[in-house]
Amino acid sequence: MIILFNEKKECYGCSACFNVCPTNAIEMNSDEYGFSYPHINHDLCIKCGLCRMVCPYISDTISAKAPIKAYAAVNRKKNTLKSSASGGVFPALASIVLGMEGIVFGCTLNKEMKPHHIAISSIENLYQLQGSKYVQSDIGRTYCEVKESLDNGIYVLFTGTPCQIAGLKTFLGKEYNNLITADLICHGVASSIFFEDYIKYLEGKLKGRVIKFIFRDKSKGLRKLARVIYEKNGRTHSKLMYPIESYYYKYFLDADIDRDSCYECKYACGNRVGDFTMGDYWGIENIHPEIDKENGVSVLMVNSQKGLELIDEIGKYMEITESDFEKARLYNGQLNEPSPKSNRRDGIFKIWKEGGNVAVAKDYHRRYKNQIYKNRTKELVPEPVIAIIKRILGK
Ligand SMILES: Cc1cc2nc3c(=O)[nH]c(=O)nc-3n(C[C@H](O)[C@H](O)[C@H](O)COP(=O)(O)OP(=O)(O)OC[C@H]3O[C@@H](n4cnc5c(N)ncnc54)[C@H](O)[C@@H]3O)c2cc1C
Ligand code: SF4
Ligand code: SF4
Repeated sequence: MIILFNEKKECYGCSACFNVCPTNAIEMNSDEYGFSYPHINHDLCIKCGLCRMVCPYISDTISAKAPIKAYAAVNRKKNTLKSSASGGVFPALASIVLGMEGIVFGCTLNKEMKPHHIAISSIENLYQLQGSKYVQSDIGRTYCEVKESLDNGIYVLFTGTPCQIAGLKTFLGKEYNNLITADLICHGVASSIFFEDYIKYLEGKLKGRVIKFIFRDKSKGLRKLARVIYEKNGRTHSKLMYPIESYYYKYFLDADIDRDSCYECKYACGNRVGDFTMGDYWGIENIHPEIDKENGVSVLMVNSQKGLELIDEIGKYMEITESDFEKARLYNGQLNEPSPKSNRRDGIFKIWKEGGNVAVAKDYHRRYKNQIYKNRTKELVPEPVIAIIKRILGK
């Protein structure tokens, strides 16, 4: 009997096994906390072993490489930059590939608030993939779609978490000159069902229907504000939210609700699986104080010769400043090690299972009420006044 993993932490949920199975014997199902795992129907399984061969956890066929170059990068188009989570590396890469009549794969959030990977072939649809969705994205059958396009000679850009890039590469099993991959610096992913249930909780609070959730709204600078857009009484409303006001966002940022595999992730390090790595350039004010960080700055790492050949083209879309990877990793934890496993995780999921989203919210409020009130009070005081108070208190 084929066994794909013994413990949950041994599966990333990348779906490579699901994509490769020649008899469709594998389904991706959710566990009790909403994380997706493969399930083999042993009546359909012909024991070919392909699923184990393509599993990036089991077979270490993908060589991860240290970056050749690192840059601080900011998209030249203000509107594009504002719609992206960091400095807009992704739209720059996507524009290059779409300009070659290629296709671009990435994560979108559908109307049911379910993140999943899709392909786009026109710049008009780029917005669907822009922005970080801090939830695990469902790969579906996109690896099969990528292979078909590559075999037809079409240029493909595939973006995702490093485990998804590794899954795609093990699935493909060979190098393609027409494939460009970009992995994210990844802090971990939370379960999509836990997120969907949080959205239901929000809908109850707002007495409306959520139609959009933007994790990184930049309208007030880089304060990691979320924006929720919802319909109520036939009208569309929009609300900005600090992460501390959202149990989902705060728990995600603190790595309290990650997938088991994320706490021991082998990709959270300086060796990278994609041609490019994209992330936030945290600490930019110390390393490149001359760069305006107002609307986000990306750290762009180039990890392959193929990537290096595109750097001049990227420069047409982005202001790029050569940087130092060793310095950049000082401020970005997941370029060094996985997020540590939180001792709150099991308790949060237990409360959710027993009492649903209202119980989670109640427990969250009990834990964080002081911080929530402090944040609300701070918001009532204008920033210049806070600066004066801090100066007086010598902080
Ligand atoms: C779950 C997650 C954790 C992250 N953790 C960190 C971190 O610890 N440190 C850090 O520096 N950066 C982290 N990032 C990356 C950062 O938030 C930005 O996504 C990245 O810098 C790209 O920004 P951009 O401005 O270039 O592109 P944008 O225009 O914002 O494009 C977003 C890109 O991210 C992809 N994407 C969005 N959501 C998902 C998802 N759920 N799964 C797979 N791909 C997705 C899209 O396909 C697209 O390629 C994380 C991103 C995600 C999704
Ligand atoms: S291929 Fe991916 S989804 Fe399948 S068992 Fe391995 S890590 Fe899990
Ligand atoms: S932390 Fe690692 S295992 Fe988790 S989603 Fe990111 S790359 Fe995958």
